[in-house]
Amino acid sequence: MGRAILEDPLRLVIGDKAAKPLGRALDLHAVGDLLRHYPRRYETRGELTDLASLRDGEYVTVQAVIAKVTSRPMRNRRGSIFEATVTDGRGQLVLTFFSRGRQDWRERQLAPGLHGLFSGQVSTFRGKRQLAHPDYELLDVGDDAARAAAEYAAEMIPVYPAAKEITSWQIAAAVRIALDVLDIQDPMPRAIRERHGLCGLADALRGIHRPIDWADVRRSRDRLKWDEAFLLQTVLAQRRFAATAYSATPRPRMADGLLDAYDARLPFELTVGQELAGAQIGDEIALDHPMHRLLQGEVGSGKTVIAVRAMLQVVDGGGQAVLLAPTEVLAQQHFRSITDQLGPLAQAGELGAAEHATRVALLTGSLGAAARRRALLEAASGEAGIVIGTHALLEEKVQFADLGLVVIDEQHRFGVEQRDALRDKAGDGRPHLLVMTATPIPRTVAMTVFGDLEISTLTELPAGRAPIFTHVVPAAEKPHYLERVWERLREEAAQGRQSYVVCPRIGGDGPEGPDDDSAGDDRGPGDGGTDARGTDVSGTDFGGTGDGGLFAESARPSLAVLDLAGELERGPLAGLRLAVLHGRLPPDEKDATMRAFAQGSVDVLVTTTVVEVGVDVPNATAMVVMDADRFGVSQLHQLRGRVGRGRHEGLCLLVTEAEADGKSRQRLDAVAATLDGFKLSRLDLEQRREGDVLGAAQAGRRSSLKLLTLLTDEELIGRARREATELVAADPALARQPALAAAVRVLLDQERAEYLEKA
Ligand code: ADP
Ligand code: MG
Repeated sequence: MGRAILEDPLRLVIGDKAAKPLGRALDLHAVGDLLRHYPRRYETRGELTDLASLRDGEYVTVQAVIAKVTSRPMRNRRGSIFEATVTDGRGQLVLTFFSRGRQDWRERQLAPGLHGLFSGQVSTFRGKRQLAHPDYELLDVGDDAARAAAEYAAEMIPVYPAAKEITSWQIAAAVRIALDVLDIQDPMPRAIRERHGLCGLADALRGIHRPIDWADVRRSRDRLKWDEAFLLQTVLAQRRFAATAYSATPRPRMADGLLDAYDARLPFELTVGQELAGAQIGDEIALDHPMHRLLQGEVGSGKTVIAVRAMLQVVDGGGQAVLLAPTEVLAQQHFRSITDQLGPLAQAGELGAAEHATRVALLTGSLGAAARRRALLEAASGEAGIVIGTHALLEEKVQFADLGLVVIDEQHRFGVEQRDALRDKAGDGRPHLLVMTATPIPRTVAMTVFGDLEISTLTELPAGRAPIFTHVVPAAEKPHYLERVWERLREEAAQGRQSYVVCPRIGGDGPEGPDDDSAGDDRGPGDGGTDARGTDVSGTDFGGTGDGGLFAESARPSLAVLDLAGELERGPLAGLRLAVLHGRLPPDEKDATMRAFAQGSVDVLVTTTVVEVGVDVPNATAMVVMDADRFGVSQLHQLRGRVGRGRHEGLCLLVTEAEADGKSRQRLDAVAATLDGFKLSRLDLEQRREGDVLGAAQAGRRSSLKLLTLLTDEELIGRARREATELVAADPALARQPALAAAVRVLLDQERAEYLEKA
């Protein structure tokens, strides 16, 4: 065949027979897929693999020297066993081949003294490491002249992530053919390449697959890493640019409106951070194109007030604002606290309402028919300036008279699609958008995941906030500590304060398997929830442990709300007012329980992670997390943010039976050691794969990041972002960069495909 481009199907280049296993086993279909399947490491010809490092069960490719061979007939059957023992100079590995007939040819081929690459699955048989029926390629066959060539000894051999059906060197052979016929347009403009000292794409692809030396590898990796960052940032810059092309109704701040009245009613001073973020947001919604902002801030840093103030500015400007919350519990809490804070400002049409007063409507899936009709009507007529709700808001029936601002709380629970669904409810033009997250995101992740948003960060907590003390309670080693835990909760109650006891599971007579806490919430289909293990499957979440293996560690099922509540009530907490809360309760019951807890008529709330995000009861001062090792680092941080929200210091007790020096205990110790959410989210990130971090909502990005690591490549990502932004500003449609435009299309197709697959 002639020349090939990256988008060409592999079979056209390497033939059907060779292409099939690549597609089946490694999901590589186009030339570009293969060329972006990078070597995992390189073997230097002549440098043997350390055989001691092999683990049972692994598929490996090792370089070794054949030490001796034996051949013998099988005992009870026809056929023979041929064994070759290979060595790295210290350890040994046995290669075993069975055959129906004699294997003289193999004996001639695998002669002692020869070097080879051997590939197969490691197992142990009678105390010896072996590869049964390995594939192999001998390295020093060929004539003496070739062997004498100087480079020969130094040549680097790429070792690819391989599979049972296809070996590392079969991949290498396919790559070689593809590289030979490749005709490539470099998508990165020359000027950018030159500014950052990057080599061309063709050169980099050759260099990463067939390097001459380590410098060659490094140069190539640098360039290819840049590609990943640059391409993604170009997509994001285009999105940001497209957003500015939309118009929005400006809602400048007005004197003597609801916002001023609200500010006058606020029982506290805003923090400096709140003032700054608030001013930034206030300025942006006064403009005639849509605001696009992410507000991130530590748990308890007071993001809601900022959102309410922005909403009131919009209402003052004649528009409506909608607040989307991820759970029923949170939506109801927002509704209650916002109506309380607004008082007469939210009582339009009622006796005693303030001048300019508006209404606040609540819309969740659990409303009765009449209440629902009323909420829909208030939203559609514009009577309600503020509409608060859950996924129920996304339904088509929900309409607004003049939607000016969309606020999304706890953004990591939502995907981009849901953001867009709400945004589409504005008539012509677009509403302003404010998304909030309490999951602190390292800067690079923010640039990558939320790269189409501008970012404001609240770093300080409101003054006078009492500290939270966290302790690990090793229940297995020191059972009497647990008694002390319950005693502490009694002490809190005696002082009129309240506590949470969090369990990983609901339990009771529910269906087997992990209880789904989101089951009772009205989430849309296809949207994940938080299962009882805290593994969030929707969007970016640093909450889950991201390590399924963790849960296998202990055979005992985790503690369950319904079981523990009964035990506590009969035993150590007898006489206190207990209540249970979990996702399987009917929504009105959940609401009633939260309300009772918020009003102080419940001493101890035994609950699942439904209280993880946003729940705000300042009088709650203690939290006990049972089986704390079953939660992720950032999730524990979120949970503990429920206490220490008022004047009294918070206490968080992480009860665990995990072993003293195990990994789980280390994670818990880390949580106990710091209150810095950013530090903890980095820790989470280090323990998880990048794809998990980017999350399902950012599908395409998962597979497009191969070399880039978000934790360590901050500088590079920042530079790529600046270049991409500048380029897109000058040439938004990439008309002058056809190769880059093509690469963007491929990335977006991939993202769409993965999104559809997920849905
Ligand atoms: P988060 O940022 O986690 O969503 P919230 O908005 O729920 O935090 O605020 C936490 C608590 O702090 C609320 O009770 C809120 O009323 C209170 N709060 C917010 N801002 C301030 C402030 N500047 N001073 C004192 N308390 C504040
Ligand atoms: Mg909040």
